[in-house]
Amino acid sequence: MQIVRALEELRAIVSEWKRNGLSVGFVPTMGALHEGHLSLMRLSVSQCDRSVASIYVNPTQFAPHEDLDSYPRQEQADMHALESVGCDLVFCPDAALMYPEGEETRVSVPDMGSKLEGQFRPHFFGGVATVVTKLFNQVRPDKAYFGEKDYQQVQIIRRMVTDLSMPIDIVAGETKRAADGLALSSRNTYLTPEERQIAPSLKAALHRAAIRMRNGTLPGEAISEAVETLERAGFAKVEYIEAVNPATLDPVPSQLPDHPCRLIAAAWMGKTRLIDNIPV
Ligand code: AMP
Repeated sequence: MQIVRALEELRAIVSEWKRNGLSVGFVPTMGALHEGHLSLMRLSVSQCDRSVASIYVNPTQFAPHEDLDSYPRQEQADMHALESVGCDLVFCPDAALMYPEGEETRVSVPDMGSKLEGQFRPHFFGGVATVVTKLFNQVRPDKAYFGEKDYQQVQIIRRMVTDLSMPIDIVAGETKRAADGLALSSRNTYLTPEERQIAPSLKAALHRAAIRMRNGTLPGEAISEAVETLERAGFAKVEYIEAVNPATLDPVPSQLPDHPCRLIAAAWMGKTRLIDNIPV
């Protein structure tokens, strides 16, 4: 597995692969890798001739009060993990490469990016769209892999790729969970042992709401019960639980019981913000 920090070197290697007719898969990450990231890399390895991961903690997707400085970093362990699942190249750019002196260009997906997460993290999807565009231009993959754990992110990247005619196939991988149901996340390391015990109730509450909705309960009622359950379980604040159209992320109309629907949620467990989502 090659570890590359310079853009020229990355370009030379990928160009050589392309000259040889090899397909290139790409998994962008912020490091602190877990089974969720590795499952995406395995998918890439199974579908593409060569697979690239990137590790870059992107400052523009963090607000000033968020955890950019304390975000977990463990490059050595990440390299071993990526190598063990067949990754061919890890790209680790630095800030000077990603945001060169005088930089000002931004990519935004303003409507989709202002829903759900965007209501609480208005800076977030602009930062994601910008860094993913840069990474796509640097790596030039044929396919790129994103986790359904960040469901809104996948839909926003799909929108962006369509709108900007990027010649990249976006593949979504399913959410990987701990045995007790908690969605794996690099930020789970922030949880205290007590918080870690309660955290799986987020998935459990979504699951129960989904079953109730499938049995005819209106979304508003099923969601209210889920919010109450989480608050009683010890969640500090439920920022949102919404039943949305999986493609547009618009709220599903409550008078139509038979429509495609996804439940998406964010809630604070102590000082840790958890997100999760499930299909109904
Ligand atoms: P991050 O390092 O948090 O930016 O995540 C990099 C990629 O891994 C994104 O496409 C995430 O959606 C994906 N990912 C994170 N957690 C999980 C998980 N539990 N299951 C599947 N994919 C995940």
